[in-house]
Amino acid sequence: MSDSPVPARVVFVGGLGRSGTTLLERLLGEVPGVVPLGEVVHLWARGVLADEACGCREPFGSCPFWRKVGERAFGGWSEGLAHRVLALRHRVDRTRRIPVLAQFLTEGRPGDGGWPSSGMAELSEYAAAHRRLYDAAGEVAGCPIVIDSSKHASLAFCLAAAGVDVHVVHVVRDPRAVAHSWHRRVARPEDGRPMTRWSPARTSLHWLAQNLSLELLARRGVSVTRIRYEDLLGAPADTLRRLVARIGLRPRLDFLADGGAELSMAHTASGNPMRFTVGRIGLTPDEGWRTAASGRHQRLVAALTWPLMHKYGYRGRLA
Ligand SMILES: [Zn+2]
Repeated sequence: MSDSPVPARVVFVGGLGRSGTTLLERLLGEVPGVVPLGEVVHLWARGVLADEACGCREPFGSCPFWRKVGERAFGGWSEGLAHRVLALRHRVDRTRRIPVLAQFLTEGRPGDGGWPSSGMAELSEYAAAHRRLYDAAGEVAGCPIVIDSSKHASLAFCLAAAGVDVHVVHVVRDPRAVAHSWHRRVARPEDGRPMTRWSPARTSLHWLAQNLSLELLARRGVSVTRIRYEDLLGAPADTLRRLVARIGLRPRLDFLADGGAELSMAHTASGNPMRFTVGRIGLTPDEGWRTAASGRHQRLVAALTWPLMHKYGYRGRLA
């Protein structure tokens, strides 16, 4: 092993939660040469500090993969490191900083708008911690490509603005289905406690904010591939083949067969409970929300998210 890790190529999965980002990461993670890391944005608090389970079901601190990555990247994980990265995140990795970061991407300098005077140094330090983590993870896994499914557009902006070569996969899903998912009462599989719920109006605003931010990232010259959740489930082989080719890998999709996929264990540090799934999963379009969600909610979401919803090919009545 050399002292300077080979730079990993970073695939960042972005989109609003409940849009299929975890499923996309799990499927892409089965392609040879790709290692899925989960939602790295939550690794510092939930993995390093709270010692929550890795996708292999070992506590983060006991997982051999993450232990090696920590040693390789930082000489070991520490509370001090996690607190420092979380403090940097609080200062630079914010949705409200996106306009400043977007200007930086086009003009090479940050725009006005509340950017702290130490902002560039903090952004560099924050991105460098991620760079070290990605490179070490790629090297430990023996994979040239790492996936970070952190979802939030602001982290993708931070990475791109700091010069990290990142390919963003922008996952979109019909906002009416996303709103239904956020509105349902669902218990967390880990502890039975209720999961966070949002009103349809609130989900609509978050859906617009995340998707418009990822659209802006593409307009600022970052490589962005948009995937519709409905296409991933309706035609998984075609959708993944196109995506894998865009990322620059040979599309070896042996794990797909008979309308499903075979998932192997993955060391994903944080994220949706689906990250623990091992074995065969079915891939069938989920249209249950059309009858389960109230017509009033569906019309409200369509009205609030139009015209972006229509741009993505989702049709619905506004009234
Ligand atoms: Zn693990």
